[in-house]
Amino acid sequence: MKENDSCVCPACKEKSIARKYRANDDFLAPEYRLRCALCGADLGKIDAPQSAETTSGNATQKLAALLGGESIEKVEIDPGDHFRHGCRNCKNFIAHPFKAICALSGAETDPMADCEKFIFREEKK
Ligand SMILES: [Zn+2]
Repeated sequence: MKENDSCVCPACKEKSIARKYRANDDFLAPEYRLRCALCGADLGKIDAPQSAETTSGNATQKLAALLGGESIEKVEIDPGDHFRHGCRNCKNFIAHPFKAICALSGAETDPMADCEKFIFREEKK
């Protein structure tokens, strides 16, 4: 059950609304629960809100249905290895907060630069 959902209260058996209230006085970890708007009986925990991905996914599906179209597939864009060819993805690139250094020449380098000695760095997992 979520905040402001209508329900039949198990305590007073009336059609009521679930109101959010703070169940503890812990300043650092407040716990919010639901209670009957009429009699104040505890109605349990608040359901976790849907994740943004599911919500947006549903919204996309609803929009597609509204417009009478097919469901929309998520598109993955991969520009390919050529796009990643640059000092920032090179094995010899040393990233430092103040300057980026090339391990081969020892000189400062530009992450967006490119050179003939480029070697792909293995992806961190
Ligand atoms: Zn009640």
